Parts: sequence; C-alpha cells; structure tokens
Amino acid sequence: MAFPITRARRLRRTELVRSMVRETRLAPSDFIYPLFVCPGEGVKREIGAMPGNYQLSVDCLVEECREVASAGVPAVILFGLPETKDPEGSGAYAEDGIVQRAMRAVKREVPKLLVIGDVCLCEYTSHGHCGRIVDGEVDNDSTLELLARAAVAQARAGADIVAPSDMMDGRVAAIRRALDESGFTQTPILAYAAKFASVFYGPFREAAESAPQFGDRLGYQMDPANQREALKEIALDVEEGADIIMVKPAMPYLDIIYRARQEFRLPVAAYQVSGEYSMIVAAGRNGWLDCERAMWESLTAIKRAGADLILTYFAKEAARRL
Ligand SMILES: [Zn+2]
Repeated sequence: MAFPITRARRLRRTELVRSMVRETRLAPSDFIYPLFVCPGEGVKREIGAMPGNYQLSVDCLVEECREVASAGVPAVILFGLPETKDPEGSGAYAEDGIVQRAMRAVKREVPKLLVIGDVCLCEYTSHGHCGRIVDGEVDNDSTLELLARAAVAQARAGADIVAPSDMMDGRVAAIRRALDESGFTQTPILAYAAKFASVFYGPFREAAESAPQFGDRLGYQMDPANQREALKEIALDVEEGADIIMVKPAMPYLDIIYRARQEFRLPVAAYQVSGEYSMIVAAGRNGWLDCERAMWESLTAIKRAGADLILTYFAKEAARRL
C-alpha cells in the first residue's frame, strides 16, 4: 500500500503522536556516571578538556555522589589518581589505595548508590601502560595476577561490580577465580569486552593522568577496523564468566553495539567516552550545534543500537532533565 494510501507523515504531525509511537526512550536508570577521585581534601579541580567534570578528593566525591543519586542515576564507576605511581601499579590493589578509600566512603555515606570499580593498572603505573612491562612489552600473563588482586581489593572495599578495562587475554577468568576464592562469589564482572584503541580517549588521559609514557596501546586494545574480532573478544569474555559486556567507545561503534545485542544474551553496556562528550560540549560552546539536543540524540542512538546501560559524562545532567 503505497502513497497516497500510506502517508508516513501522519504519525509525525504532533508531539503527542510522535511520543506515542517513539521506539526508544531514555531513563535515568540507563546511566552510569564516571568519576575521578584524587588525593587531598576539599579538592574539586575541573578537567580542562572535559568541562563540567572534576578530579575530586574523597570528601568532594561523596558530595558529588549524593547529587548523582538524588538525580536518579543508579550507579557510578570510579577511576583513581594515586599519590604515587610505580612500575607494578601497586596503588591499584593496595588495601588503602585511593579508589578503595573512595569506595568505602561512598558505600558508607550514599549506600543506595551502586559503585563500580574500573579495574586496570594504567592510572597507577609509572609508565602508564595497563600491565606489567617485561622486556619493553606489556606482559599478559604476569599482569593477570595484579588485576585479580585489584578486583579483590575493590570487592573488599565494597565495590558492587568490578569492571576490567585492560584488554589482557584471560583477565575475566583470572578475576572470577580470585573473587570466588576470596568469598566474593556474588560480585558481578562488567567486562570491557570490545575496547578499541581509540583517539576519542584523549581527554580522559588528562582526567586520569594515565597517558602511556612510551609506545601506544595498539598491542592490547582493538583495531578500530575490526568487527568480527570484536565479536570474538566478547565471546571470550562471556566464556570466561563476564556478567555484563561492554563496547567502548560508543557512537563511532554503533555497529558493534548492535551486533553484541543481537548475538549475546548478556546485558550490553556502552561507554560514551571523553572525546565523544568533549566534542559535543565544545561544539555547543562555539555555537556550532545545540549541546543539549546533541546529548539526547547521541544517547538515544546508543540505546537504539542496543545498549542496555550507558556510561556517560552526561549522566547527571541527562537524568536531571528526564
Ligand atoms: Zn588501562
């Protein structure tokens, strides 16, 4: 039944009709808010390339978490800036590491907020890589033990979910085993399953002070050109015991999110990364596009592609406006 019997525009005439036939709707419960915790007290330092985002000392982080929770965002994911760094990234798994201290404080002061720990070494290593360096290379197998220790330290500090982001082979299995052996059989793993070596992480490296001091991450993060390999990476993490799978970044990788949703039964998370956020905010500030509408359109597109959960620096603002 073609035109003139069929007229697609009939369902677009008014906002009332459009809202009735809308296929994708955002809700505050879709969002996870990334936060950066740093040493000190009363510290709230804005991140230059990510306006509206801050490095926060534990006390300020707790305040921020109260606001996030009252906006209706159910979860935060924490990244740490340690006092000192060393080649083995020991701040990632120290009992009193910066993220572990932050978790204890947030779980005590804002118990209704779900706290996710990003599990990686790059914020804590002096060389800025995500694993141990052996003979000038990131060594896979000896890194697994350190990642497992970091996940257990976070679980002990109250993490509700641990989220390995390093892209070492076998890390999900190693973390699952270590959590179970330490009694954390109920702590889920959100795996950064398909994490691409993306230029869109640029602003984050200022935020987390985690830029590699030599080389790049192409030896462990994925080639942006590869879709089949992303599905293989996700399948491996699922086999190893991941509870939620993640695609990162989000908007340049909507095809990967879509295929992950179609081919796997687990919840799919997508990370709208720092560069995606910064581009929208910067263009908005220049008057080149409407920042708020770009926020809604980008988040809706990520959900429409199949993401059940969205990690986004817009989480607090979006939840407030919903
Ligand atoms: Zn890392």
